[in-house]
Amino acid sequence: MAEKLNLFIGGSLVQSGTKSWIEVLNPATQEVLCEAPCATDEEIEMAIKAAKDAFLSWRETPPPERSRVMMKYQDLLKTNQDEIAEILSKENGKTFEDAKGDVWRGIEVVEQAANITPLLMGETVENVAREIDSYSYIQSLGVCLGITPFNFPAMIPLWMFPMAIACGNTFILKPSEQDPMTSNKLAELFTEAGAPPNLLQVIHGGKDQVDILIRHPEIRAISFVGSVPVGQYIYKTGTEHLKRVQSFAGAKNHMVVMPDANKNKTIDSLVGSSVGAAGQRCMAISVAVFVGSSKEWIEDLKNEMEIVAPGPWDSEESGFGPVISPQAKDKIIGLIERGKSEADCLIDGSKCEVDGYPNGNWIGTTLFANVKTESEIYKTEIFGPVLLCIEVSTLEEAIELINANPFGNGTSIFTASGRAARKFRHEIEVGQVGINVPIPVPLPFFSFTGWKQSFYGDLHAYGKQAVRFYTETKTVTERWFEEDEESTKNLTINLE
Ligand code: NAD
Repeated sequence: MAEKLNLFIGGSLVQSGTKSWIEVLNPATQEVLCEAPCATDEEIEMAIKAAKDAFLSWRETPPPERSRVMMKYQDLLKTNQDEIAEILSKENGKTFEDAKGDVWRGIEVVEQAANITPLLMGETVENVAREIDSYSYIQSLGVCLGITPFNFPAMIPLWMFPMAIACGNTFILKPSEQDPMTSNKLAELFTEAGAPPNLLQVIHGGKDQVDILIRHPEIRAISFVGSVPVGQYIYKTGTEHLKRVQSFAGAKNHMVVMPDANKNKTIDSLVGSSVGAAGQRCMAISVAVFVGSSKEWIEDLKNEMEIVAPGPWDSEESGFGPVISPQAKDKIIGLIERGKSEADCLIDGSKCEVDGYPNGNWIGTTLFANVKTESEIYKTEIFGPVLLCIEVSTLEEAIELINANPFGNGTSIFTASGRAARKFRHEIEVGQVGINVPIPVPLPFFSFTGWKQSFYGDLHAYGKQAVRFYTETKTVTERWFEEDEESTKNLTINLE
C-alpha cells in the first residue's frame, strides 16, 4: 500500500479523512510514491478557520519579529536543500542539480522576506495644508491563497507564502497534485523555523478543492501560477468573487540570434534554455529567431542538441529528466507529429528510450526548422524539450514577430551590438528581457513581470510589487487644535 500524504493544518501533518486520493507517480518509473488526499470540505473549512484565527495575532507581531522567523527559515532551507531537492526530483523528475536550483531560487525570495521591514515603510508629508500632516501605513490583508503548478514545486510556493506571511498575513497553499510532497517538507521546515502553528496550511487536491478555496469569503487574495485556461478561470472567478488576484500563465519565449553574436555562447544558451528541465519551464526558450546569416548556425545547433539526452534524476549523465506524466508525453508527441507536416524536423525525440527505465515519460531533444507562425507547433505552448527555428532578414522583423505573439513572459537577444540590444529591449512587448542572458528570471528585489497572456492582474510576484499585492495602504490626515482656537464651519471639501 502506498504511503498516504498528509495535509498540513495547524502547524502539523494531519491525516485526511477523504475517500478520494490521487496517485503521485515517479515520472521516470511510474512507481507510486504516495497518494495525495483530495481534502474534504470540512478540512478546507478547518484550515481556513485556523488561518483566520492566527491572522488576528500575527498581524500584531512586529515586522522585525516576522523577519526573524524568515531568517531562521532561509537558514533551515539551505541546510536541508539536498533533502528537499531529492524529494522534488523523485516526484517531478528533474535532475538533482536542477532541483537544487529550484530550491535555491525559492530561498532567494525567503531572504527578501527576511528583510521585510523597510519594504513596509509608509510615506509622510508634513503641512499638506496649513498645520495638517499626512502619512500612510502598510497593513496586512488577511488570509491569502496560493495555487501552484507542477514545474517548480519548491520555487513557486516560495514565491508566495514567505512574502505574504512576512507582510503579516496567513496563507493556504494548494500545490500541484502531480508533485505535492515538496510542499509538505517546506511547511514542516517552516514550523521548525519557529513560525506560529497556523500561519501556513497546505491543502491537497485538484479542481474541486480549488473551486471551494477561490470562492471562500475569508480568502482576500489569490496567487496562481499554471496554464492559460486555468489561469484565466482563476482570474475571472476570483475577481468575480471580489478578490485580489495575480495569475501567472503560459508562455512562448523567443530568443533572437543576431549574426554578430558570440556563436558558441549562443548555441550553448539555446540548448540549455530550450531542453533544460525537459522544456518544462515557463521561461524556457521555445523559439529561436535567426536574423540574416545567423541561420547558418542551425546545423551546429542541431549537432549540439543531439548530444544532450534525458535520464533519471540521480545520474550525472542526464541532461534533463522525463516529462511529468504519460498524458503530457502523449500531448507533446502529438505536437511533434503535427510539426512534421508543418515544418522541417531536424531532430525527432518522440521515440526516446532510456536504458533501465522502460516506463519513463521520456522525450528526447527535438528541433524544427522553417517554422511558420501560422503552424500549430508555433501557436501552442508545447512544454517539452522542443525548439522551433524561424528565419527572418532583419531585427525589425524579429521584433514585429515577437510582438505579434499573444504571450509576453520572457525573451532574449544574443548580439555584440549595444545599439541592437537597446532597440530590442525598448521596443519588445515582453515583460522580462535578457541581453545575452537566455532565461532572464529576475532576482527577488525586482518582480517577476510577465505580460500579455502570460499574466492576468496588476501586481506581480515577489519584490516590491508582492508587498503591494499582499497589503493595504492606510492614509492618515491629522490636525491638532490650539485649546482656544476659533472655529468656523467649512462646507467645502478643501482642507482649511
Ligand atoms: P495547471 O494549470 O494544469 O495546474 C496549476 C494548478 O491549478 C494546480 O495546482 C492544479 O491542481 C490546478 N488546476 C488544474 N486544473 C484546474 C481547474 N480546471 N480548475 C481549478 N484548478 C485547476 O498547470 P501545470 O500543468 O501544473 O503547470 C504548467 C503550466 O504552468 C504551463 O502552462 C507553464 O507555462 C505555466 N507556468 C507559468 C509560470 C509563470 O510564471 N508565468 C511559471 C510556471 C509555470
